[in-house]
Amino acid sequence: MALYHVGGWGAPYFFINRDGNMAVRPSGFNTTFTEEIDLMAVLQKIQEAGEMNTPLIIRFPEILKNRLEVLQTAFERAILLNGYRGSFQGVFPVKCNPDRYVVEDIVRFGRNFAFGLEAGSKPELLMTMACMCKASPDALLICNGYKDAEYVQLALIARQLGLNSVIVLEQEEELQIVLKMSQYLRVQPVIGVRAKLSTKHNGHWGETSGDKGKFGLSASEILSIVKTLKDVGMLDALQLLHFHIGSQIPSLSIVKEGVTEAAHIFCELSLLGAGMKYLDIGGGLGIDYDGSNSSASGMSIGYTVEEYAEQVVHAVDDACALKNVKAPTICCESGRGLVSHHSVLIFDAFSVSKPQHGGKELCRGEDVTDLLQSHDLPHQLSVLSEDLARLVNIGDLEGALACAKQLKLDCACSFKLGLVSLELRAIVDELYTSVSNLMCQESKKGNLRSLSKKAGLGMSDVINDQIVTYHTNLSIFKSVPDSWAIGQLFPIVPLHRLDEAPSVRAILCDLTCDSDGKISSFVSGNPLGKADSFLPLHKLEANRPYYLGMFLGGAYQEVLGSMHNLFGTTHVVHVLGKTGGSFQISLQLPGQTISDVLRAMLHDPLSMFEDIRSQFLDSFKAGRFGGNREATVALHILKCSFSSYTYLSHDQDHHYS
Ligand code: PLP
Repeated sequence: MALYHVGGWGAPYFFINRDGNMAVRPSGFNTTFTEEIDLMAVLQKIQEAGEMNTPLIIRFPEILKNRLEVLQTAFERAILLNGYRGSFQGVFPVKCNPDRYVVEDIVRFGRNFAFGLEAGSKPELLMTMACMCKASPDALLICNGYKDAEYVQLALIARQLGLNSVIVLEQEEELQIVLKMSQYLRVQPVIGVRAKLSTKHNGHWGETSGDKGKFGLSASEILSIVKTLKDVGMLDALQLLHFHIGSQIPSLSIVKEGVTEAAHIFCELSLLGAGMKYLDIGGGLGIDYDGSNSSASGMSIGYTVEEYAEQVVHAVDDACALKNVKAPTICCESGRGLVSHHSVLIFDAFSVSKPQHGGKELCRGEDVTDLLQSHDLPHQLSVLSEDLARLVNIGDLEGALACAKQLKLDCACSFKLGLVSLELRAIVDELYTSVSNLMCQESKKGNLRSLSKKAGLGMSDVINDQIVTYHTNLSIFKSVPDSWAIGQLFPIVPLHRLDEAPSVRAILCDLTCDSDGKISSFVSGNPLGKADSFLPLHKLEANRPYYLGMFLGGAYQEVLGSMHNLFGTTHVVHVLGKTGGSFQISLQLPGQTISDVLRAMLHDPLSMFEDIRSQFLDSFKAGRFGGNREATVALHILKCSFSSYTYLSHDQDHHYS
């Protein structure tokens, strides 16, 4: 089914299988190992174990491994094709997903090709230092971000530990700290400079670069650093040039412009006598979130990983050939491009808001008069209702819809003046829905001309009226923060029933008490980027859970998520494929409990419980509980609640045994 455009954004990992379920090929389509994992089967196995339920994140470490290999192979191939004399060494910026198991996996999978890590703060630096003890000794440890003496000391100690750390200067003043600390610790530093390029992209993350960008050194600041290093006889310590023009670079032309500009700075530094070895092109390799494979949509990119690598290598090669400079090792700090695919957020929709007001079937004008006959209608409403009955009878549905809308508006005004009853208002609201439903049915049968703009209505009004809200067991602020913060689009698809045509148009709202806690923009597959304002879904059925997956959220979402309404981290499960389509759950990490989130806000669950218990004893003495049994149950519920999951429980009876 092309409906959710899975073939666009999901390839080569996600697809709809023959059972109508979402499925995963963790090693991609282009491998001989063609295992398929049914996501519903994974969920069922997790649920059967009895400890975890939705919402949860399923991670596929094999996808991570594949992404790493795809990136490495793309650069190796581009190097070969261009006859490039340098090499490639990637690093993973841990800010993108600092989870211990993600970072450890990347180090393990990348060991054979000296894949390294990038840190941008002191906690990240300590974490990367520890993880890189298991990496290849040649792997780079790129130390970015603003630095104080403590940061610089740690980066220098990393060199003493035998790690290949490079201190990348973000500000000119950092050089003095590096010189002082390296003298103090008697370590020869390896230094890089972050250049502020004039190249800029105009996507959401483009503000990182350009003359007014937050980061990096201008040409004159870089030259001043060169002069200082030369004066102290340490110019050979300057070995790396870094830049980052922003995440999710939309097109290859921007990649080419940025890399060419940086490559020329690299060459100039080399010609000035610096010991230049590495050109670090930062992150920015984009993801096709909407499956349109186009730079126009803003949620996609117009290139493949292979084309990206080809463009980078070509641009560096050209600049070095022109300036007759030795080809550097190209370093790339791709984060989003590496980790987005490997994690899937799974959540359930537990109820649906009724379409605005039920809406009875309306076949003839007399149905209108029958509905209203026992009510006293103010004159204006009475005229409108007669008009409505007449228009329905002559089959002028466009006119009927305009009239029903006016009737609804006038009725609301009369209600505010105290002229109509709540009951009459409900009937009039329902009448509008009935006409809207009728329009929708007729348009599906192709029986409508386009709706007249004169009437102030269009088909989009009718479609909007049909959109319902699915309530989901999820916090958007915790699990999909970029959807709320910057309108980022993520593919969302039911995990099952995909062999059944969806019959409902829905938006999703979450558990938080916040009107922003909703998703109302969905992948449309439109190459020009217009997102859909609803998600086609299936009708919820009694006693049959309905599961949805949000895909491509492995980058930034987990770490940016906030604790709004005190919803905590979700459970995380790691799944490995086995030959023949089976799988193995290799790791289960429970999400935060209520006690955990309370503690994070500096409450003390133990003393909280004691306070509640002493209140309980007073209440018990005052006879506020039915009897001993009720009191015991209440105390037990209070106690158990502290250790339960912060999301809705699937146990409808809530028996604490
Ligand atoms: N390197 C630096 C310095 C960054 O600031 C970022 C992200 O903002 C990255 C790498 C990762 O970028 P991306 O996730 O787009 O690959």
